[in-house]
Amino acid sequence: MRIPRLYADTFGYAAGEVVLHERNHHYLSRVLRAKTEQTIELFDGNGCVYHAIITDINKRETTVQILDISEAPDHRLPVTLGLALIKSDRFDLALQKAAELGVTAIQPIITQFTDSPLKADRLEKKRSHWQEILVSACEQSENNWLPQLHKPVHLNELALPEQAIVAHPSAVSVQINSAQESLLLIGPEGGFSDAEIDALLKKQVKPMSLGPRILRAETAAIVGLTLLGQQYGQY
Ligand code: SAH
Repeated sequence: MRIPRLYADTFGYAAGEVVLHERNHHYLSRVLRAKTEQTIELFDGNGCVYHAIITDINKRETTVQILDISEAPDHRLPVTLGLALIKSDRFDLALQKAAELGVTAIQPIITQFTDSPLKADRLEKKRSHWQEILVSACEQSENNWLPQLHKPVHLNELALPEQAIVAHPSAVSVQINSAQESLLLIGPEGGFSDAEIDALLKKQVKPMSLGPRILRAETAAIVGLTLLGQQYGQY
């Protein structure tokens, strides 16, 4: 059987016996019906991997003994995905795929054609939902680096790094400087407005084509990250 891999953020650098977080306990006891002596792997989302063995598992909690701690190699894609808020199931899919593809961070953005920008009260709920998607994707894809999830910002208030790229249908393919991290901007269902594209180009953001067809935003995110990944030597 494959060793279960669980994200354990509050873990720190603890050694010895540790009582697991409720989320981990629930998964091990209810979903996997794990027993004592079962070995598991825990990762802190920051490159630290812990091999552990379950020493006690009961109705209330799971206790493990840490066997060893190792540092995972850093294979992160040095890209922040700046993704416009799109329909929530599509946004969720893009988040999951971005985590599988190893992005460093996710920056949700509000643009002129964003349908219904999130209200502040719903945002916190959304954030934990998005965080859970990123965690599950990292658990499943053996990614030991959890992407940072930034708060949504308006496109015109977004701080641009030196290397920023906007996926734009009428552009050409782009050559990036692979020694530098980048921001990849993907527009909403209605695309970026002409004014938004003009403003980005004035700020030296590089336009990038993703091929001759118009892709849905979530497809564009996957393709864009894959193409950049190739330039960063990930494939
Ligand atoms: N109706 C819009 C399409 C939006 S698609 C329009 O015609 O512009 C959503 C986003 O995906 C776009 O804003 C863009 O960032 C990206 N995208 C889709 N297809 C693309 C392509 N062929 N090349 C580059 N970017 C693309």
